[in-house]
Amino acid sequence: MHGESVDEKRWFYRNADEWNAFAQRLKLIPCPHCKVVGMLIKHGSLYGYDEGNSGATTVRAQRVFCSNRNKRRGCGRTFSVWPAHKIRRLSLSTRTLHAFLRLAVAGTIVAAIAAVGQRSARTWQRIWRRFNLAQSKIRTALSARCPPPELPATELPATPSRRPTAHVLAHLQAAFKGADPVAGFQHTLRTFFV
Ligand SMILES: [Zn+2]
Repeated sequence: MHGESVDEKRWFYRNADEWNAFAQRLKLIPCPHCKVVGMLIKHGSLYGYDEGNSGATTVRAQRVFCSNRNKRRGCGRTFSVWPAHKIRRLSLSTRTLHAFLRLAVAGTIVAAIAAVGQRSARTWQRIWRRFNLAQSKIRTALSARCPPPELPATELPATPSRRPTAHVLAHLQAAFKGADPVAGFQHTLRTFFV
């Protein structure tokens, strides 16, 4: 699993300033693997392809190295610091995913895929399954932050199987107000949304 524990709290940054501020504090931060302080150094970036911009690459994560070179006391392992507004492994923005989920809940998956585009229908089906697998984990994480809001019957999707998802999205919006609640989730709870 890339040497990174699944249960570990991760680091996210919302913009370049936040990443730079983090990078300047690296010497004060304990390594998430060996807990030694003072050995972390920047270790380049991970790149991926950007959505809707064929051929262009985008930073997928920043890498940090716990240095064991030149007799330094680090463990020699690396970890990633992730952009809060992206979905890992998909080069998909959190806003695009959120738009897709809202449309999928309100109507049909097929209509949501047509409206959002950017990815093949097969990829969106895979993303939808990935989100469904993550739902209970998301609900638990949100409940630690605020109780789920009451949803009036008029706001519930006509399709009964979509109702749990409608509740999760309303809960997400209650916990993280603003235009990009999925990024807020990742940044604040220090875990991936899906
Ligand atoms: Zn270390």
